[in-house]
Amino acid sequence: YLRIVDVRKEFDGFVAVDDTNLTIRKGEIFALLGGSGSGKSTLLRCLAGFEKPTAGKIYLDGQLLNDLPPYERPLNMMFQSYALFPHMTVEQNIAFGLKQDGLSKEAVKKRVQEMLALVQLGKLAKRKPHQLSGGQQQRVALARSLAKGPKLLLLDEPMGALDKKLRSQMQLELVNIIEKSGVTCVMVTHDQEEAMTMATRIALMDQGWIRQVGTPDEIYEQPTSRFAAEFIGSVN
Ligand code: ATP
Ligand code: MG
Repeated sequence: YLRIVDVRKEFDGFVAVDDTNLTIRKGEIFALLGGSGSGKSTLLRCLAGFEKPTAGKIYLDGQLLNDLPPYERPLNMMFQSYALFPHMTVEQNIAFGLKQDGLSKEAVKKRVQEMLALVQLGKLAKRKPHQLSGGQQQRVALARSLAKGPKLLLLDEPMGALDKKLRSQMQLELVNIIEKSGVTCVMVTHDQEEAMTMATRIALMDQGWIRQVGTPDEIYEQPTSRFAAEFIGSVN
């Protein structure tokens, strides 16, 4: 499991994330939910290692992550833009990180097949990203992120590049794939509906603070602050 202990991030004295404590269980889909500038991405980037916390510690299964560079952390972050390699096919995109890891050709092939099956893109293995729909591109990016079997998957606004109709469809599909893979997931979203639909638990953030942590039901039915009630829209 993931343990975030007294994590704080300042930029030139401005506190973007205030002393934050969270424990996220194995296999959870945990959403950081909040408005623009509430510190969601900064906290996620601290987990990924792209930002160094000003204070506090981050542990994954007991291992201290703070001093590890991003690529040595047993996690993967999927970017909102997907960052697929445009000149590579779907299977080459998925294989990329595995080859870098020095796996044998056969092992890479087998793993790519498993990933294609997981995201149900076997038939499109030879296509290039520009020949895919937005939702399909997202699934390739997800397959690539999961290929190495990370313990933790980080998603920053995973639906950000999709149009509204596709969003609700992909929410359930994404949950399905994540649950099947068994990976623990922390996702960032400003969309309460998305958090409610996808997450096992939600941390509601405001100005760098976590205001409330709970299941979607708990947050919706028992908001502990006016802020939470208004943000979730359970009070008008
Ligand atoms: P959004 O929904 O708009 O993406 P967010 O919740 O992800 O918002 P963050 O990107 O975490 O917000 O930013 C939190 C605060 O920290 C903002 O006020 C932002 O301006 C500030 N901030 C983020 N990165 C930096 C940086 N590198 N230098 C200075 N300030 C930063
Ligand atoms: Mg953000």
